[in-house]
Amino acid sequence: MFVKLGDISFHSLDKWVLGYVIIGATLLLNHFKIQLPPEGNSLSMDSAVYLACIFVFNLEITLTVLLYSSLIYFCYQRSTPWWAHFFNFSLYTIMMTGAYYTYIYLGGVTGEIEPSNLLSYAGALTVYFIINVLLISTYFFVLGRTSLLDALKGFLKGTIESYISTLLLSIILGFMLQAEPFFGLFLFLVISILLSFTFKQHFNLYQEVSNKANIDHLTGLKNHGYFKELLSETLDEVKRNKTSLSLAMIDIDDFKKYNDGNGHLQGDHLLTFFGSLLEKECSPKDYIVARYGGEEFVILMPDTTVSEASSFIDCLRKKVNDTYFEGVELLPYGCLSFSAGIMEWNSEIHTASEFLSHADQAMYYAKAQGKNNTHIYGNEIGTIDIDQPMEEMEQQLKLFLARDIYTYRHSKRVFRYAVEFGKQLDLNDYEKKVLMLGALIHDIGKLEVPRDIINKKGKLTSDEWEMVKKHVTWGRDIVAASKKYEDILPLVELHHERYDGKGYPYGLIGEEIPKLARILCVVDSFDAMTTERPYQKTKSYYEAMEELQACAGTQFDPFYVEAFIDYFTGKNESDDIREYQDSKSSSSSINETKV
Ligand code: GH3
Ligand code: MG
Ligand code: MG
Repeated sequence: MFVKLGDISFHSLDKWVLGYVIIGATLLLNHFKIQLPPEGNSLSMDSAVYLACIFVFNLEITLTVLLYSSLIYFCYQRSTPWWAHFFNFSLYTIMMTGAYYTYIYLGGVTGEIEPSNLLSYAGALTVYFIINVLLISTYFFVLGRTSLLDALKGFLKGTIESYISTLLLSIILGFMLQAEPFFGLFLFLVISILLSFTFKQHFNLYQEVSNKANIDHLTGLKNHGYFKELLSETLDEVKRNKTSLSLAMIDIDDFKKYNDGNGHLQGDHLLTFFGSLLEKECSPKDYIVARYGGEEFVILMPDTTVSEASSFIDCLRKKVNDTYFEGVELLPYGCLSFSAGIMEWNSEIHTASEFLSHADQAMYYAKAQGKNNTHIYGNEIGTIDIDQPMEEMEQQLKLFLARDIYTYRHSKRVFRYAVEFGKQLDLNDYEKKVLMLGALIHDIGKLEVPRDIINKKGKLTSDEWEMVKKHVTWGRDIVAASKKYEDILPLVELHHERYDGKGYPYGLIGEEIPKLARILCVVDSFDAMTTERPYQKTKSYYEAMEELQACAGTQFDPFYVEAFIDYFTGKNESDDIREYQDSKSSSSSINETKV
């Protein structure tokens, strides 16, 4: 076949030259494609040349031209994988063969372009079109990108016109090849290349306009409308393929205060900065970031479970806390922070709006927990029967809001740790309840510490430090005012005692310190190490767990340090935590070898 192809086609010098000029033309046309929206879609005029060859010459010449063009294109377009070249070559071969035999079957005669052949031209093109659509749709279907029907629908949309133009062009080219082969081909090429440039300009204009419509002008991220469109499309895909998909709704904390203190323009700068920070962290994972509203952002995380999403967002939160931006010292925390609601898609969620609304509710829950927080939808802690004392304590705690926001938020977080960690410990229900209430109120004595000491930015003097230490005793006095809270007293008074006896206020040693106070000491210290304080770098989770272990047996009860690390590593899957687990398992395997 190969020999015959080379043999038959170009045996006279004229044919030989014309054959190679046609090959050159197909390559040029393939290079100067006509770009069409949406992005990635294009039309190559080389099909018109192949069809014209079928009508004017015969199938063998057409396939020879195709073979040589494909071989040259294969050598030149090395970035395309070999199988794609092969697929395209096979596709064109089948299409040309189908079109040729249909043409002949319908009475078409090769050699002359004749109006009487019109039915055959139309038939050839229809078969060419059907084969093309079927094979390309099957290709996308086999790759698993879409369903066969969707692929067909997508392909048919807007392509009929371009196929009809291809047919008409092939007939026009046929005339030209017949009358003035070289000049005709030259004119055809010039027109096609000029069209390619013109369409390119239109395409760029189209891209610019559609980008403007989809992009938020301030941050350069995707905007609300475009994100919702993307979310709906992604949801359809996830429903079909049953993969995981998580969503985070992020709202910058106290942004109004930032605007009030630094001006609206600087607020805009912060939004731009925040947007690029999110983009930088999310792009390696192919997560989609969009600006949802004023100071609200969304992150869409395909192939991500809720626990992976939660770890990612929590690490992002810490990174944001540790990133300085001009003017953030005016914020209540002295640093940039956000609250986030996280939600994983499940089969009960049918629409994009439902999905967003759940993530939004979770975000508001995170805000209510004291901000600078993340919360997973559905994990609300509202079922524990401690309502009345809780409410009273919440009221007490709110006194912190005006004078010491840091302690307020810290108390809320320690409470959450106590609830979750308490569930994993061997505690009875009453002990769990005492631990939770104690966690919430443990720093209440700080209300008595003068405001300038609490909010002091530099190092404390020793007198000031003594004053701060008194908060445990003052806290006990506040709580002791109500008899019903007497079981909580030890937690408030003794959570700064150390296992080695070097703590305060009494210097109790080991098990002299009540169990719940020892537990609270671990949780309290972990939160203090890992969350932001003004002008103080925080530890990563990894570093904080190392620190807990380093101080197990001196500052902390080693049993509860181990239990806390088990609990914390169990609930998080961030790189930080994984690194910690790996380092622990590799060091333990070394020990085993030595033994
Ligand atoms: P919270 O911690 O509860 O989220 O408090 P907040 O102050 O961040 O939230 P609030 O909803 O009270 O205020 C949001 C502020 O964001 C109010 C609005 O002026 C500001 N904002 C919204 N869009 C823009 C913007 O494009 N540029 C600037 N500079 N500010 C904006
Ligand atoms: Mg908001
Ligand atoms: Mg806000």
